[in-house]
Amino acid sequence: MTDPARLTGAVLTIDLEAIVANWRRLRDESGSVHVAAVVKADAYGLGVAHVVPALHAAGCRHFFVAHLIEALEVVDILPRGSFVAVLSGLNPGAESACAAAGVIPVLNSLGQARRWIAQARIDNRRLPAILQVDSGMSRLGLPPHEAAELAADQELTERLSILAVMSHLACADEPEAPANLAQAEAFCQLADLFPGVPRSLANSGGCLLGERFAGDIARPGIALYGGDPATGDHAPFAPVVRLEAAVIQMRQIPAGTGVGYGMTWHAPVPTRLATIGVGYADGWLRSLSGQGAAWFGEARLPIVGRVSMDSIIVDISALPEGALAEGDMVELIGPHQTIDDVAHAAGTISYEILTSLGQRYHRVYRPAAAQQELAA
Ligand SMILES: *Cc1c(COP(=O)(O)O)cnc(C)c1O
Repeated sequence: MTDPARLTGAVLTIDLEAIVANWRRLRDESGSVHVAAVVKADAYGLGVAHVVPALHAAGCRHFFVAHLIEALEVVDILPRGSFVAVLSGLNPGAESACAAAGVIPVLNSLGQARRWIAQARIDNRRLPAILQVDSGMSRLGLPPHEAAELAADQELTERLSILAVMSHLACADEPEAPANLAQAEAFCQLADLFPGVPRSLANSGGCLLGERFAGDIARPGIALYGGDPATGDHAPFAPVVRLEAAVIQMRQIPAGTGVGYGMTWHAPVPTRLATIGVGYADGWLRSLSGQGAAWFGEARLPIVGRVSMDSIIVDISALPEGALAEGDMVELIGPHQTIDDVAHAAGTISYEILTSLGQRYHRVYRPAAAQQELAA
């Protein structure tokens, strides 16, 4: 049988054990009672169907997604009654679907709270909810006056069981930003309106900010997946993703020859080139045109010209002639360049590199040890 990796231009390897190791590290270091997993956008592009069971087997019991449609997929993976919450809130008209699936909405506005209370009345049972308050980011959550109005509403606690009050940090990736402490203080005041309710503030960056930011439930995403959540000198999180792509053709061109769409690069000297089977349709962003590189062994192979839909062209002159052959795999993400390195070259953040990873890759999952034990 043909090796499935030969059916495509590239192989994406996802290390579930590294995700579990990153989660355990956050559990041990964050100071929060529980460490949840944010698995929105298909676990940052890495596949909820694989990531969620691995984290659950390791002991993770709280999962956050962005939209109800993502939650419906995640509740199906987990045991009945699991904690799966929708960060983006409760869309008008989605109340009965959310209640029927046992999904926890994050209530971001008075209107959402009122409609969820009405659903509880219809269902004649208490429905679970998380309240989000806006502590300064101005994106999602109840502004202070709405939080106070809701806190005074008797029906809130009669009809709903409030599992947590949460907020989100705007600058957790910059440990020195004064906004962090200001948000922690604003959050504390707003959370006091709901006495006895568990608190949730820290994302990945927040987990590194110290005990003022720890709470009952931390909500890391990017650090689980090996991204660097903040500036400053913390130990890197374990790399999770490896991307290797095939050499699909090689050529030698004379000085002055144009390369790629628009011929935006001309060889200054006679140059040897390799065309690699990954392009912007695979999430190898077009902003990497003329930026960044592939690696073969210890040799850095700079990208020349524009990124095409299905391929890039790299300068392989650094390699001895004959060192590379058609079908060889070069490294695009791996030991020589992290997702943060690629993001830097592309002028973006590791979140965008991960969530752009394409659907055409041959995906290989390295299992987590805890799951291997279960399977044995
Ligand atoms: C995406 C998100 C997170 C996770 O953030 P990371 O920076 O990836 O750790 C946590 N909380 C909320 C509200 C989010 O939207």
